[in-house]
Amino acid sequence: MTRLLIIGPPGSGKGTQAEHLARHFNVPAVSTGDIFRSNVSRETELGRQAAGYLDGGSFVPDHLTNALVRDRLQDTDVRSGFLLDGYPRTPPQVAELDSMLAEQGRVLDAVIELLAPDAELEQRMHRRAQEQGRSDDTEEVFRRRLELYHTETHEVVSAYAGRGLLVSVDGTGDPGEITAQAIAAVEKFLASFPPRT
Ligand code: ADP
Repeated sequence: MTRLLIIGPPGSGKGTQAEHLARHFNVPAVSTGDIFRSNVSRETELGRQAAGYLDGGSFVPDHLTNALVRDRLQDTDVRSGFLLDGYPRTPPQVAELDSMLAEQGRVLDAVIELLAPDAELEQRMHRRAQEQGRSDDTEEVFRRRLELYHTETHEVVSAYAGRGLLVSVDGTGDPGEITAQAIAAVEKFLASFPPRT
């Protein structure tokens, strides 16, 4: 029964950490970025609507993103827990997630924030661009994603910090070490505030 969020800037290794943490906490990882990319490659209606936003490094409009998450959170596999990766990332999405969870009588247990300096994120993006060829890993698009993180998603982080849910983890260094530190930090946090429902 663990409901977690992971928030981090582009290039912070959020997706990789989400998978390891989800395995450890035995919950499904739900990545809005992955769901959008999969829809784009399968050329679904949602993919067609989302593609331009992904390629430009902008947010997919809240109404599309919220509907997608609302739908996904009704699946049976996330009934007893989940790790949401990449959602919410705007203040209206925070409000929407609050109401989805309230309707289901659920609460969040912890919000993991991955920290890394911008200069390192840019270096990693260059490396990843060569390895994975993601269409949004170009200098200009990456800069836009990073800027949106600082302007929009920063407020999301502050909101959860204000609720006492934030667990910040240093996202620099060896990925395995980061996972270990994140697990230790979340477990310590959960032990002091045991899962509520
Ligand atoms: P990153 O965090 O590195 O930008 P993601 O895979 O999390 O990578 O997201 C890739 C893209 O998917 C975003 O740039 C955006 O276009 C879209 N996206 C993912 N999650 C959201 C969200 N919660 N709200 C709006 N757009 C989103």
